[in-house]
Amino acid sequence: MLPPHRDLTRSNAQFAKAVKRLPLGVASTFRYWGDDRTIYVKHGKGGRTWDIDDNNYVDYRLGYGPAILGYADDRVDAAAMRGMQVGGVFALSTERELIVADRVAKMVPAAELVRFSNSGTEAVMAALRLARAYTGRESYLLVEGGYHGLFDAAMWQANVADWDRASNTDPEVIPYGKGIPQTVKQLAHLVPMNDFQRLEDTFRRHGEQLAAMLIEPIQGNCCGITAEVEYVQLARRLCDQYGVLLIIDEVKTGFRVGKGGIQGIMGVRPDITTFAKAVANGYPIALVAGREDVMRTFRYGGASHGGTYTAHSVSLAAAEECLRILDETPALETLAAYGDRLKAGISVILNARGIVHSYTGHSSMFGLFFADTPPDNYRAWKTSDYSFYDQMAYFLHDLGIIVEPDSREPWFMCEAHGLDDTCLTDTLKAVETAVDLTLEHVAHEAAE
Ligand code: PMP
Repeated sequence: MLPPHRDLTRSNAQFAKAVKRLPLGVASTFRYWGDDRTIYVKHGKGGRTWDIDDNNYVDYRLGYGPAILGYADDRVDAAAMRGMQVGGVFALSTERELIVADRVAKMVPAAELVRFSNSGTEAVMAALRLARAYTGRESYLLVEGGYHGLFDAAMWQANVADWDRASNTDPEVIPYGKGIPQTVKQLAHLVPMNDFQRLEDTFRRHGEQLAAMLIEPIQGNCCGITAEVEYVQLARRLCDQYGVLLIIDEVKTGFRVGKGGIQGIMGVRPDITTFAKAVANGYPIALVAGREDVMRTFRYGGASHGGTYTAHSVSLAAAEECLRILDETPALETLAAYGDRLKAGISVILNARGIVHSYTGHSSMFGLFFADTPPDNYRAWKTSDYSFYDQMAYFLHDLGIIVEPDSREPWFMCEAHGLDDTCLTDTLKAVETAVDLTLEHVAHEAAE
């Protein structure tokens, strides 16, 4: 079978020009997909994106999740236009802040009080600061495979890639990149997801010094690996026992897996929650929300919080409308049902070829995993044949489907996918071809 061909003449030319002015030719390092495969977007609508060569893609990255309804949603964009009439930012408050906060509190009962931020990073940074201010402690606990943003304190990970599974040791804790001070590491502790004993031991040893435990119960940056409900319940109990605040990072899961987020599904009430991506269908806004007594630590003489662009009138109006739609219409059911149909269709293709696979996460954001049981923590991800996924993703791009090249990023669904049947048929056709091409590629490699 001939590999698919995609014309990227304009994107390649744009890259050649852009790289002279922009590092890697892009605005975010993860958007660089190689000198000849970095694409530039003309526009997006619904569940699809068009590049500047007019290649059309069904898009399952959705900007890493924000476009929960679909790109350029007419309802949210009209609201954003109304927000523009308000005038931007004033270093003063507007009435709409309360309207949005009321909606959030209605949808997520643990969100007793709400503050706004501009990005997930900013929201989690504020949440950790809040926890430290409230508890008077500095250390914190992270779960391996989690991602909480770009600030120094969150940039520690388990080096699973260079870890010998048989060694009976923990993977080394390393920074995500250069420029992160080693001194910060002293305050960060990491535990493997779903290891109950290790969680108890870690609290026993460090619990009295911890300000917070941060957890993504569905790891939106690690195949959608999911915490067992009992694990999150144990985290809740240990936090209570040791006076530690539980921060559930719902930057990806919030207003996506359900109206009340993953905490609603699992029935665990955090002290602080962070939200971002799906709040306003892609307009930049994020939330820090939580227990009243904790949140009131944001005050003069307490934890500092603010920001010039916080609660910008455009984002706020978009959030009001997006959350209204998510709360009052079946949009979330529509997109989760689409995810179910997509998984079922992919399974038919893979089963017909005897390819063992499983899914992680939630139907609205799922990971595809080439092993019969999905990983239950980041260490297990290493046992998966992710090279098959990586090659398949490469072909999918050429075939008009955008998924993350890295198997750790889940596929994201939006309402518009569920309302346009061609998204499903086009995707399944492309997946079938991509799988066959990957099988051929693997066979070819083995023969060499
Ligand atoms: N927390 C989680 C769970 C995330 O997935 C992300 C972004 N992928 C962040 C925090 C940081 O958000 P942002 O990119 O908006 O800064």
